[in-house]
Amino acid sequence: MSLIDVYSQRDEPSISLEFFPPKTASGKENLLERIGRMNVLDPTFVTVTWGAGGTTAEKTIDLAGIIAQSFDVPVCMHLTCTNMEIETIDNALEQCKELGIRNILALRGDPSIRDDENDSMSKFKYAIDLVRYIKEKYGDEFCVGVAAYPEGHYSTEDDSSIEQDPIRDLHFLKEKIDAGAEFVITQLFYDADKFLAFEKMFRETISMDVPIFPGLMPINSYLLFNRAARLSHASIPQYIMDKFPPEIQADDNMVKSIGVNILIEIIDKIYKGTNGRIKCFHFYTLNLEKSIAEIVSESPTLSHIVEESDDNDLSISSDEID
Ligand code: FAD
Repeated sequence: MSLIDVYSQRDEPSISLEFFPPKTASGKENLLERIGRMNVLDPTFVTVTWGAGGTTAEKTIDLAGIIAQSFDVPVCMHLTCTNMEIETIDNALEQCKELGIRNILALRGDPSIRDDENDSMSKFKYAIDLVRYIKEKYGDEFCVGVAAYPEGHYSTEDDSSIEQDPIRDLHFLKEKIDAGAEFVITQLFYDADKFLAFEKMFRETISMDVPIFPGLMPINSYLLFNRAARLSHASIPQYIMDKFPPEIQADDNMVKSIGVNILIEIIDKIYKGTNGRIKCFHFYTLNLEKSIAEIVSESPTLSHIVEESDDNDLSISSDEID
């Protein structure tokens, strides 16, 4: 199932969900049960991450394949291209075809490699090389999406870091769209104004139609929230920091509940601020369900999903990490 086909048929706001492949068999079993429960949230699509360099290739393909075959939802597999043998990429794409995975998020991965490294690998220096490769070799067999960074991509090339600059990245994002990418998923962010500025630039210079799925990570603990933002080079606006005074930072339940309200505000601001052009919100789940279920249930933009569901008892279990 192409995720664009499903997305295009939906008028109402919806969500999409990212999962990563667990390390153990029991972790996988728990996650599949969780995905089954989260299906009540009627995701427009589900994505499965790929370890850079192919480190999780087998587990990623296995999990993506099981989801594609067990649930009535389009599956998008992430695929990185640097430090990857071309055979590994072809192998992954062939298996996706067999398993009914029709959507690929084409990524560069980290770290990038230099041109003088072996031929097979240097075929892919940037994500655009993978977009072109998939389009040339597989035609419309796959619906290909790409990543974007509302605050600019943070690069370390040749040991020197390059300042984040969303305007510089825009040119390269346009190249990926011109090469055939049909959707964009963004890096996580907490500053809705920065996302809105990015969306406006994208609409003015690249496309009015290509869907952008804003990447949102629920706040499950104060430490993890700060760490995820730092690793993703996402800024946290002062008004959000002010909601977590020192005396509550260690209280995970309190932090989660404040985090739910923050995410609800961000979603509503984006939906209204884009006049409904942004209508599918992509959650970095970290394989957890509780906060997302609460956000969807309580968000004015998304709560219709639960209200309209035949099975609106979410029965969300505890959120332990496997
Ligand atoms: P690119 O589009 O290639 O861009 C990388 C940098 O190079 C940017 O600064 C860009 O401006 C610049 N650039 C692009 N083209 C050119 C050019 N022709 N000349 C000069 N500069 C250029 N990583 C994983 O390992 N596994 C995952 O599953 C994964 N999932 C992700 C999901 C999302 C939604 C996002 C946003 C990121 C994900 N990543 C993942 C991280 C990603 O691999 C890194 O951020 C990586 O550094 C950049 O990938 P990209 O596809 O955006 O690269």
